[in-house]
Amino acid sequence: MSGMFDLAGKVALVTGSSRGIGNSLARGLAGAGATVVLNGLDAGRLAAAQAAMAADFAPGRIRSLAFDVTSDAAAADGIAWIEANVGPLDILVNNAGIQHRVPLLDLDVRDWDRVLATDLTGAFLVGREAARGMLARGRGKIINVCSVQTDLARPTIAAYTAAKGGLRNLTRAMTAEWASGGLQINGIAPGYIHTGMTQNLVDDDAFNSWILGRTPAKRWGTVQDLVGPAVWLASDGSNFVNGQTIFIDGGMTVVV
Ligand code: NAP
Repeated sequence: MSGMFDLAGKVALVTGSSRGIGNSLARGLAGAGATVVLNGLDAGRLAAAQAAMAADFAPGRIRSLAFDVTSDAAAADGIAWIEANVGPLDILVNNAGIQHRVPLLDLDVRDWDRVLATDLTGAFLVGREAARGMLARGRGKIINVCSVQTDLARPTIAAYTAAKGGLRNLTRAMTAEWASGGLQINGIAPGYIHTGMTQNLVDDDAFNSWILGRTPAKRWGTVQDLVGPAVWLASDGSNFVNGQTIFIDGGMTVVV
């Protein structure tokens, strides 16, 4: 049974994995056996992340490549480099993302464009380039990292909400065209995750109480909570799961 979730011999790219959720997902996929390519913008931070992770795995299992997911040419070059230097890409996790908090009336179109470019266009560009080889080989897994904002809005994060809603439908569009070619494309939608980035919100009594009251599971999520669903969607255990977005949110999006 566990062989169904074994990723030994698979090559995975996790965009935006120099830190945060992407880094934890990359570690989880490597733990399940995959050779993992880390990615980010800042080459120094990426090298440090690779060194930290490489210590825990066999030589060559953790690779890295800095490139900007919003660049058409960089995405094509990045996928080509991986296929030539690491191996045929089996798993892509489109995780790179940014946030920008400002009321909608004050939202500058340049900030709107920046968020859409990273959180939505980046998944299209890297996904399209990855799919070329995956379709030629007749297999591949793409996991798009969505959010509870894929389904629910909140004030001050309009661009992010629009991008993450779009990412769910991009997941469906990829499925419509590529599922017949042997690919499974799905989304994971993390809820509120307790990380270094959200520690200030955890420490804020009012916000923390709101989260606990709003979440049927009565707790914050952890990065570890995301790993099981990601490994499942990257593995043969999900071979007939197509175009779905799995909310990993303690039930937040199913209650009012
Ligand atoms: P994070 O800690 O801010 O890390 C973002 C990562 O994306 C970094 O590795 C960053 O690289 C990389 N990145 C940003 N722009 C990029 C670009 N243009 N090209 C390549 N890499 C780029 O973010 P996070 O909180 O872990 O979030 C990761 C994903 O999960 C995002 O899609 C986010 O929307 C989603 N998410 C997060 C939460 C949460 O609670 N944190 C909840 C739901 C969904 P550098 O280090 O080089 O900047």
